[in-house]
Amino acid sequence: MLRISQYLREVAEAERTGAWPVPPPARGAGRPTRPVVIWNLTRRCNLTCKHCYALSADHHYPGELDEAQMLAVLADLKAYGVPALILSGGEPLLSPHLWPLAARARELGFHLGLSTNGTLIDAAMADRIAAHGFDYVGISLDGMRAAHDRFRRLEGAFDRSLAALRLLRERGVHIGMRYTMTAMNGEELPALLALMREEQVPKFYFSHLNYAGRGNIHRGRDARFEATRAAMDLLFETAWQAARGGEPHEFVSGNNDADGVYLHQWVRARFPRWAAPLRERLVAWGGNASGVGVANIDNLGHVHPDTMWWHHDLGSVRDRPFSAIWEDRSDPLMDGLQRKPRPLEGRCGACPQADICGGNTRVRAQQLTGNAWAEDPGCYLDDAELGLATETAGGPDALA
Ligand code: SF4
Repeated sequence: MLRISQYLREVAEAERTGAWPVPPPARGAGRPTRPVVIWNLTRRCNLTCKHCYALSADHHYPGELDEAQMLAVLADLKAYGVPALILSGGEPLLSPHLWPLAARARELGFHLGLSTNGTLIDAAMADRIAAHGFDYVGISLDGMRAAHDRFRRLEGAFDRSLAALRLLRERGVHIGMRYTMTAMNGEELPALLALMREEQVPKFYFSHLNYAGRGNIHRGRDARFEATRAAMDLLFETAWQAARGGEPHEFVSGNNDADGVYLHQWVRARFPRWAAPLRERLVAWGGNASGVGVANIDNLGHVHPDTMWWHHDLGSVRDRPFSAIWEDRSDPLMDGLQRKPRPLEGRCGACPQADICGGNTRVRAQQLTGNAWAEDPGCYLDDAELGLATETAGGPDALA
């Protein structure tokens, strides 16, 4: 995930003071990094969204973890030092185990997020969410009313999700909008950004469509690169205006780590003297976090490098603790993901910007070619921008 606002605030401060701000020491510096765990509590969902990676439906899925198993996993995650949990689904509010798990997670001191479609949140549910002390609740909105309802395949879904945002905001819950862009909803972005402002939603998460689950089925209609670049330009400009104005709004993006390279280009074109320190910050971020800073446990207890790797099973928490599975580098994919640098091939292997994006989202390469280390077909930057075409005639230093 690229924290666009964080970097643009640093640029804004540098513009104001004439010096690049010293970044605060990284949280947990010196200690081994533990992943944020995205935990799909259930695959059950009341919606059948077009881009769903879990291919969910509204029925019980046999074999899901029970409450005692979940609490045992939670204890292991705590002992291992996992800092944060994002409880997801399916629709996590349909899991009978959500509330005891959330209550125990709060007692144990996890940073706790909830990722929901929002359609099941009425006033009583909003009270319950607020009472459980979630640090963040992200609600999916993939367009304004007509587009969102079409995407979510439910008339009235937009109104219900918007009402949920309002109910949670009124109760002081930290909320955010989640938007997944495809060729079917790209034109919705400006209106959603305006809606965010009108509704005083403090966070906007822009997700690129990834190739997994229903997203894979629809990849032929994925937004073309021009549309992606236009969307990122709008997102960067909106985030910049907020950063420059001292507004607290957060803009982040995910599922295409080439965004970090594109952000660097965007800043270099406008504020060239801050391009070099920004590049250092982006390299420290390092791009794609699958299998390193992010982990996934699915509804059946299988562990994956992240939510887009459900077809790659690292082992089950029924057989071994999560911590043991995560430490096991006998799996070639995990070994490659955790190597620095990753064993990239093709265009990504030759790319001078791979230290920023980390080789981007490996699952796209794997699903298109069968080789997880091949070039990422989702990279929307051309050779000249990346320094690939100029390398023999001056080298990538020209891009610093
Ligand atoms: S070509 Fe590959 S390594 Fe280079 S920016 Fe694009 S995704 Fe990243």
